[in-house]
Amino acid sequence: MTEALVETKLLTKHFEIGKGQTVHALDDVSLRIEPKEILGLVGESGSGKSTYGKTLIGLHAKTSGDAWLRGEKLPQRYKRLHFQKLGRDMQMIFQDPYSSLNPRMTVGEIIGEGLRLHREVSGSEVQDRTVEWLRRVGLNADHMSRYPHEFSGGQRQRIGIARALVLEPEFVVCDEPISALDVSVQAQVVNLLDELKASMGLTLLFIAHDLSIVRYVSDRIAVMYLGCVIETGPANSVFFDAKHPYTELLIQSNPEPDPKSERTRLSTRMKGEIPSPVNIAPGCRFAQRCPKVMDVCREQAPDLLPLEGVSEERHVACYLYQ
Ligand code: ADP
Ligand code: MG
Repeated sequence: MTEALVETKLLTKHFEIGKGQTVHALDDVSLRIEPKEILGLVGESGSGKSTYGKTLIGLHAKTSGDAWLRGEKLPQRYKRLHFQKLGRDMQMIFQDPYSSLNPRMTVGEIIGEGLRLHREVSGSEVQDRTVEWLRRVGLNADHMSRYPHEFSGGQRQRIGIARALVLEPEFVVCDEPISALDVSVQAQVVNLLDELKASMGLTLLFIAHDLSIVRYVSDRIAVMYLGCVIETGPANSVFFDAKHPYTELLIQSNPEPDPKSERTRLSTRMKGEIPSPVNIAPGCRFAQRCPKVMDVCREQAPDLLPLEGVSEERHVACYLYQ
């Protein structure tokens, strides 16, 4: 097997929230992301997607488990020096383009900040590269001296993209980069990311709650539920032939836009809400909401195991297949 660009083994992140309570935001997540691959990470809100992305790039210290970049083990907790060094290789584009840009900094300062911090470049080069990146994301040099509030949501997300990519990282976590945007500009931002990905040879972790979007942009998909990965496989194969009952329901509750499609008419919404990650019941985490639940599901959590009898590499954590 070739070396993964990014790999995690049993990556776990718990938050202690006082009174002896622990939030199990992420439990034992093992994933590989191949060089130049887009891995789509999907799941309802609260399933731990952002926590995975943030823990990976060092915004959260790991509770346990390990992560590697190009075979090099990443520190359990990042110090200033780690951010300086690893910030060149790994960047994040955030969900909310309104809160993720410092309102007191000009666009030029926002984009140039990383260059000053992570790369030893002269002032004039910072200026040149900032102008170049404004152009690459569809803005222009006149925008340098303006402030974030002067821009629309879509433009702000372009600024966020420029800020992350100006450092020419190899790996980028895109955390729901379009979900705060108007539908009319979502496609533009996806296309921009796609173009940049192709021209720069980027590897992406693309996070979204909507499987139909993730399917379009991703090579492979990993589905998360309540802190755990429950299914992985090539994007189309997971989308058109979902195995885990949760994945099936997730697809049905995000019907494709075509009003005539069978899928839309048959769609049912997921029942109930994602349970609290504070008191986790034993067994499969989806057992409480699963339409196909069996006795064994409530006893012990199923492992994420290779699916037998299929030509592609697929993994499912469900006793229906074990
Ligand atoms: P997603 O991105 O899939 O919506 P998150 O990773 O944001 O999910 O959150 C997973 C769970 O962890 C949620 O229950 C959330 O409330 C909790 N959580 C996230 N960040 C923190 C934090 N800093 N402190 C306590 N709980 C957190
Ligand atoms: Mg999130």
